[in-house]
Amino acid sequence: MDFIPYGKQYIDEEDISSLIETLKSPYLTTGPKVKEFENKICEFTNAKYAVAVSNGTAALHLASLILLNENDKVLTTPNSFLATSNAILYLGAKPVFVDICEDGNINLDLCDEELKRDSSIKAIYVVHFSGNPINQNKLKYLKETYNIKILEDCAHSLGATFENINAGSCIYSDLSILSFHPVKHLTTGEGGAITTNNEEFYKKLLELRTHGINRENFLHKQMSEDKKGNINPWYYEMHSLGFNYRITDFQCALGLSQFKKLNNFIKRRKDIAKNYDKAFLSTIVKPLYNFDGNSSYHLYVVKVNFEKLNITKAELFNKMRVKNIGLQLHYIPINKQPFYKNIGYGNENTPIMDNYYEECFSLPMYPSLSSDEQNYVIKTLLKVLK
Ligand SMILES: *Cc1c(COP(=O)(O)O)cnc(C)c1O
Repeated sequence: MDFIPYGKQYIDEEDISSLIETLKSPYLTTGPKVKEFENKICEFTNAKYAVAVSNGTAALHLASLILLNENDKVLTTPNSFLATSNAILYLGAKPVFVDICEDGNINLDLCDEELKRDSSIKAIYVVHFSGNPINQNKLKYLKETYNIKILEDCAHSLGATFENINAGSCIYSDLSILSFHPVKHLTTGEGGAITTNNEEFYKKLLELRTHGINRENFLHKQMSEDKKGNINPWYYEMHSLGFNYRITDFQCALGLSQFKKLNNFIKRRKDIAKNYDKAFLSTIVKPLYNFDGNSSYHLYVVKVNFEKLNITKAELFNKMRVKNIGLQLHYIPINKQPFYKNIGYGNENTPIMDNYYEECFSLPMYPSLSSDEQNYVIKTLLKVLK
């Protein structure tokens, strides 16, 4: 059996030829494919606007520039990739880590308590962990009750739905972000996007993506026009301190080609999750949550109570690695990272997260994982744990 990683991309000949076609076009960086890709993102998520950027972390940074000010307190989850809360720190704002629920998602009831207790909290950053959508009704309640800013990190959840609300549609949030890293639902190599229904945010994001440059609404009449009122053709203005977070046209061509397969990718992931669920029924391997058709299954996470076993989690990972199976742990609690400890984090009361870190790990999950490979993973895991 060849090595089976926890996640990987699926690229076919169609993807390759659409990429090559764009390489032969006049546009390497921003060209027509960028807007086309953004339109596709809107169509798929139901958001009004989308801004494609160089990666998901850049998307988080730009979103945070819109939503946060220095010293703002922001509720967020310890169970995410570092980038989610790092983006809060980029702005000099302050993450406040809230414990998770048994399903790996941030506990929105605890968020409610925090917001009740501390009226200075300005925002909440949620992650639909593993593709399992958080309760949108609770988001709505928090938004309406406390008038806070809400960002949804949808890096795991493209294709997920909560009661017909698509992940990334921003029905009850200000902004959502996506990532197109190879392990995510569709890939552009590196890539990301921000979605929103707010036109003002959209215009600001376009500006921030490329150095804060604005080519439409000039503020400096004397410099932008000649004596006769003609706009100077060379003229542009910088309106904010932006970045170069642009994505290339050929990456968007790849993304567009991947979009054609996206529904199929998501269906494959759900089928694999169903198969895993069935195989682990009445074994010591417990799925993080029972099969849920609303989840887009970026990850398939299981729980094992290692205290009752003769094997540690490290030993399990190593033994599986020898059998050519790559397990992964999503995630090490962000607040326990040395960098975060150095700035005063790490002692939050997060018993569910602590237990999650002891017991959970992710199994291989990607569209091209064959039935034979799934069965090999299942059999090997149960054998090693015996
Ligand atoms: C992948 C990921 C990101 C960052 O995306 P990049 O494209 O790798 O920068 C952010 N948040 C979560 C939850 C992720 O999984």
